[in-house]
Amino acid sequence: MNVVIGRTMDRRSFLRNVNMAAVSLAAGGGFLGCLKRPVGAAIAAGALQVNLPETACHLPRVRVSAEREIRTVVGLRPFRPSGFRVAKEMVGETAVVHNYGHGGGGITLSWGTSKLAVELGLPGHVGPVAVLGSGAVGLATARLVQEAGFQVTIYAKALPPETTSNIAGGQWFPASVYDPDKILTPEFSQQFVAAAQYGYRRYQIMTDPKYGIRWMRNYFVSDAPWRSSINTGLFGSLQGLLPEVQDLPSGAHPFVGRFVRQFDGMIVEPPIYLPAMLTDVRIAGGKIVVREMKSLTDVQGLPERLVFNCTGLGSKALFGDEEMTPIRGQLTFLVPQPEVTYATSYENTYMFSRRDGVLLGGTHEMGDWNLQPDMTTKASILAKQAKLFDGMRDC
Ligand SMILES: Cc1cc2nc3c(=O)[nH]c(=O)nc-3n(C[C@H](O)[C@H](O)[C@H](O)COP(=O)(O)OP(=O)(O)OC[C@H]3O[C@@H](n4cnc5c(N)ncnc54)[C@H](O)[C@@H]3O)c2cc1C
Repeated sequence: MNVVIGRTMDRRSFLRNVNMAAVSLAAGGGFLGCLKRPVGAAIAAGALQVNLPETACHLPRVRVSAEREIRTVVGLRPFRPSGFRVAKEMVGETAVVHNYGHGGGGITLSWGTSKLAVELGLPGHVGPVAVLGSGAVGLATARLVQEAGFQVTIYAKALPPETTSNIAGGQWFPASVYDPDKILTPEFSQQFVAAAQYGYRRYQIMTDPKYGIRWMRNYFVSDAPWRSSINTGLFGSLQGLLPEVQDLPSGAHPFVGRFVRQFDGMIVEPPIYLPAMLTDVRIAGGKIVVREMKSLTDVQGLPERLVFNCTGLGSKALFGDEEMTPIRGQLTFLVPQPEVTYATSYENTYMFSRRDGVLLGGTHEMGDWNLQPDMTTKASILAKQAKLFDGMRDC
C-alpha cells in the first residue's frame, strides 16, 4: 500500500482540505454492498445503532442557529510534523515505549499505534507495566497490555473528561496526522498503514452503544466539482480499509446545485467511549493514579520497569520533543437532533450528529495554544453550516 500521501500538497492546502480529504478516503471495499442487506442484521442481534438512510433524498435537516447552541469548546490536536512516534528508548533502567503525536487522528489510530507499541515493549518483559496518560491512546495501550496478561497502572495528570481525546469529534479517519510537505520515512509509512488497518478492525468489533461507536453515513458537499478522484492521494492509499464511496448524481441528494460524495464510516463518541474504556481497564484489574510526571526523574522513579508514554502534547515538555505543536480546533454544539444520524462536510467545516449534541467544527489553527473559544470563528462555522442546511430540498 502506497503511503506517499499528498506530498505535492502544501501545508496550507493540506490543512484546508482535511475535511475534503475524508471524502476520497472511502473506496472500493464493498461495504455499501453489505449495507444493502438491511443494516439490520446487527440491530437484531443487539441494539446496535446503525440508522443508515436508504437514500439521501429525505434527510432530516440540521437546524443551525446561534439560539440552539449548548456549548462551544476548544481542543489542541497533538501534532508532530513527521508523524506520531512509536519507538523504544532506555531512560536509566526503565524502558520507555513512546506512543504519542497523533495530530487530528488520535481516536482513529489509537488502537493501531498502541498495538505497534506493545509489540515493541512487551516481548521479554516480566513484571507490571506503567502507562502514562489516560486519553484514547493511553487507554487503548492499557487494554492491549492487559489482554497480553500484564498488570497495568495508568498514571495521568488528568482523566476523562479532562483530556484532549474528550474534545475530539470522533470520526474514524486519520486526518492531519503528519505534514505532507515532509518526506515520510519508510518506517513511519509502514507504521501508519499498519496502525490504520488494526484500528479500523478493532473499532468494528466495538460498534455498540456501550462504547458510543456506530456506523455513520457521510456526505461531503462542495460548491464546485471534485478536483480529485477517489482513487488518488491519501484516500487512494487507504482504499483497502474503507467502504465504497460514490458521487451522487444531482437529483439523488437534497443539496441542490451542489456536488455530493457519500461514504460510510464509523463515529466514536468520546464522552461515551472514554469512560467505557476506563471501566474496561478497571474491570481487568488496572489501577489508575492521578499524577503528573514532571520530569524524567519522576518516570525513572516509578516501580514499573516498562513504561508506555501516551502523554500526547505533554510529551513536548516531559520528553523534550520540540517537534510537538498544537493544531487548535474549535467546536460548537447545538441541541441534539436524534433524527439526524449522518455527517456532512462543507467549506472546511463539518457536522457530526452525536448523542451529546449536533457538533459543528473543522477549524485547524497550527501552533495556536489558545484554549479560549473565539466568537468570530464560531460565527463563521455557523454561517457556513446554515448556508448548507438552509439550501436543502427533498428530492
Ligand atoms: C477539535 C478536535 C477534533 C478532533 N477530531 C478528531 C476526529 O474526528 N477523529 C480523530 O481520530 N481524532 C480527532 N481529534 C484528535 C484527537 O483528539 C487526538 O489525536 C487524541 O485525542 C490524542 O490522544 P492522546 O491520548 O494521545 O492525548 P490526550 O487525549 O491529550 O491524552 C493525554 C493524556 O496524557 C496525560 N498527560 C499529559 N502530560 C502528562 C504528564 N506530564 N504526566 C502525566 N500525564 C500526562 C493527560 O492528562 C492525558 O491523560 C480531534 C482533536 C480536536 C482538538
